[in-house]
Amino acid sequence: MNTVETNIALAGLTSFGIAAKAQQLMRVDSVADVLQVLKAAEADAVPLTVLGGGSNVLCTHDVRGMVMKIEIMGRRIVAEDDATVTVEFGAGESWHDVVAWTVENGWGGLENLALIPGTVGAAPMQNIGAYGTEQASCAVSVTYVDRRTHTMHTLDADACAFGYRESVFKHALRDVAIITSVRYRLQRHPTVNTTYADVRNELQVRGVAAPTIRDVFDAVVAIRTRKLPDPAVIGNAGSFFKNPVVDAETYTRLRSANADMPAYPQADGTYKLAAAWLIDQCGWKGHRDGDAGVHVNQALVLVNYGGATGRQILELSKRIVASVHDAFGVTLEREVNVW
Ligand SMILES: Cc1cc2nc3c(=O)[nH]c(=O)nc-3n(C[C@H](O)[C@H](O)[C@H](O)COP(=O)(O)OP(=O)(O)OC[C@H]3O[C@@H](n4cnc5c(N)ncnc54)[C@H](O)[C@@H]3O)c2cc1C
Repeated sequence: MNTVETNIALAGLTSFGIAAKAQQLMRVDSVADVLQVLKAAEADAVPLTVLGGGSNVLCTHDVRGMVMKIEIMGRRIVAEDDATVTVEFGAGESWHDVVAWTVENGWGGLENLALIPGTVGAAPMQNIGAYGTEQASCAVSVTYVDRRTHTMHTLDADACAFGYRESVFKHALRDVAIITSVRYRLQRHPTVNTTYADVRNELQVRGVAAPTIRDVFDAVVAIRTRKLPDPAVIGNAGSFFKNPVVDAETYTRLRSANADMPAYPQADGTYKLAAAWLIDQCGWKGHRDGDAGVHVNQALVLVNYGGATGRQILELSKRIVASVHDAFGVTLEREVNVW
């Protein structure tokens, strides 16, 4: 295990690039390390915070106590048959590298989730999703260390309560589970998912009539590179807010006043609205308060132009929530984790 690093700048370890520090930081690359750091934090009676790739956190202050940075690697086939391959990935593996590797092997299921920043261990937390799929569609199980008891547990995907940017790890197991590995079942003879219009259009432009998983992967990478701000260039954490889901009555009321409002009917009779559209209607796209801003092309993405503090970004986000609520009566929920 690596030694304790003290007074560590988190700007380079988080995609928002906010100037905050961790009092102590330890990198862990095995379950044994996780248990050792847990014990040390308990012995010193300091708070413990878990960090993956830092692409979904906003630091509003220095982090007291110990930050445990998950760097557990590993890709291991644990089961296979004629149709499927089940692979266990260490929680510290880069999500995008894992997706690229599955595509290289010809195993389908994760290709629509290309280029999502971060680690495998964080993927089940908010059940990452994009371009018509979610990691839940391939997840088999999640293994974690329980911080209270220092014991290992494996939850089958059914028990993870995966939903739209939701899982048990954001609720009953929040601040309890330190995820150490995740298993995904991949398809040897995949059918591609082109339900998302952007993906279909990109394939059409590329002249691909019968797409493979490689074609879908390449299309998603191209779309995302074009559309999303690169955190290496401008600090951000992707979508700051979740798309709100409203009941049919609210949808009907809003739709009658806004004929062009995008809305996606859900299986349970509710409607998912586009948070970006609501924010844009309130005039926030491209808004800038000092170095805290709303991206010029993506109203859902809050950005740090360099010197913003986490508090400034958080304040801006609260003003956006209030204005969307005033205009539409809809409350936006944060997707980003605020520290
Ligand atoms: C440009 C950009 C685009 C994005 N696009 C998408 C997208 O399309 N879809 C999407 O769903 N998300 C997207 N995101 C958000 C982000 O990439 C995901 O949420 C990702 O899963 C975060 O991974 P991470 O390792 O960086 O997590 P971190 O930011 O390090 O952590 C996020 C949360 O998970 C906890 N955590 C991290 N690792 C573990 C672990 N091993 N065990 C327990 N808790 C843990 C942390 O404590 C924190 O609360 C985007 C972000 C950016 C910057």
